[in-house]
Amino acid sequence: MGCRRRGSRSELLRVVASAEGDEVLVDERRRLPGRGAWLHHSTACLDRAEKRRALPRALRRPGPLDTSGVRSHLEPPTGAVASTTTDENGSNS
Ligand SMILES: [Zn+2]
Repeated sequence: MGCRRRGSRSELLRVVASAEGDEVLVDERRRLPGRGAWLHHSTACLDRAEKRRALPRALRRPGPLDTSGVRSHLEPPTGAVASTTTDENGSNS
C-alpha cells in the first residue's frame, strides 16, 4: 500500500494498529486481529505511506500513528556488525 505496488504477500510486511494507543505494530506472524496494512520491507515504503497518511486510513485510526517500532524493524541494524573476529587462532603456542 505504501507505494501502491502489489507484491506477493511473502514479500510484504503486515502491520496493525495496537489495541490501545496509537502505535503501529509489526505483525510478523500475520495473526494479529484487526485491520492490517501491508508494506514492503523498506523504510522508503514506510516513508511514502506516512507521507500520504495511508496508515491511519488503512488502519482506521484518526490520529498520527507511532511507526517507530515498524521503522526499527525495517532499518537494518547498522554498526552492530562483526567486531569480534580476532578470537580464534591467537598466537599463543
Ligand atoms: Zn511498497
